[in-house]
Amino acid sequence: MDEKTTLTASLALVISLKSAKVKDNEIFFTELTVGFIHKFNWLAKITSLYLISNLLSVFMLFLKKLYVLLLKIKPKTIAMRALTFSLIFLFTFSIYSQEVTISIDTLNQNTFMLTGRGGNIGVYVGNNHVFMIDDQFAPLSDKIKTAISTLTSKPITYLVNTHMHGDHTGGNINFNTENTTLVAHDNVRKKLETKGLKNVSEKKMSQEDYEKSLPEITFSEGMTFYDDNETIMALHVHNAHTDGDTMIYFVNENILHMGDTYFSGRYPYIDLNNGGSIEGYIAAHKKALMVIDENTKIIPGHGRPSNKKELKNYVMMLSEIQAIVQKEIDAGKTLDQVKSNTSLLSQYDATHGNGYIDPEKMRVTLYKSLKK
Ligand SMILES: [Zn+2]
Repeated sequence: MDEKTTLTASLALVISLKSAKVKDNEIFFTELTVGFIHKFNWLAKITSLYLISNLLSVFMLFLKKLYVLLLKIKPKTIAMRALTFSLIFLFTFSIYSQEVTISIDTLNQNTFMLTGRGGNIGVYVGNNHVFMIDDQFAPLSDKIKTAISTLTSKPITYLVNTHMHGDHTGGNINFNTENTTLVAHDNVRKKLETKGLKNVSEKKMSQEDYEKSLPEITFSEGMTFYDDNETIMALHVHNAHTDGDTMIYFVNENILHMGDTYFSGRYPYIDLNNGGSIEGYIAAHKKALMVIDENTKIIPGHGRPSNKKELKNYVMMLSEIQAIVQKEIDAGKTLDQVKSNTSLLSQYDATHGNGYIDPEKMRVTLYKSLKK
């Protein structure tokens, strides 16, 4: 690879990361994380390539000017070249990492939602215990800890993973200290064990980090925590976003963290390869609606805080699009026919199809989930 190609590749990567972020906060990382979990699947590869090639052409003029400027340095020796390109990489990645800021929404007296990159984090600061839900990506852990330190000086007693995806569990290693106990559904531990053991065998992870990444207490159906007069219920919902989803309800605070069983304001990502299903997804919403009331504040896995009214509308939308695709299946339509039928879910595409799951992905997911 010559200098120009190296430079092009590094700049294109950064530009594609930045543009993906503009479009949707978690699109690129969720895709990449899920992609890596499935041995960097084709979807992730194609998306990355598409972003890179697309943006390359758009930014060609800008890049050209930058090359001229940078190549004026004319590094002569191999060491100088290596140094130049290391600096370019460091520079671009530092720009990238600086972009992530952790913002805090105060949802009630003791409960907060933290947004950075990846799944929304919930923090409850009780009289005796601090309770955390999900931890995004490992490189963000310090920023997340700093944000939490503005809310409380107490240590985090429990950290619950709502499911196994990397944008919700990536910080486990950094948060799993002597003071903090990791809790999750049985299947989250199983999935993280499989993923972790592979990383250990490929020398991408130490044995010590592997052990720290795993939930230390697991449950099959549910678990209840108490903090003074607060009751915190962890409820497992079956085969919704994955096969290990948990919703966490703070009874007195009246806050429900739904993990990725709710993507407010956009089509949901249903991970069929990890046990998710549209039926389970809708059932999870129905369970949530039974637990909450008109005043409940909902923390979705992705998107802004929500409420019962919005969740009700959302589950109506899901039931409708499920019925539409089921009708197509019953009429003998093939996956390709449903995939290419852009008018099929058009009534919701404009309002819900602008996130990570675009209208075509939604049609394909529904078809595959219902066809099983
Ligand atoms: Zn997820």
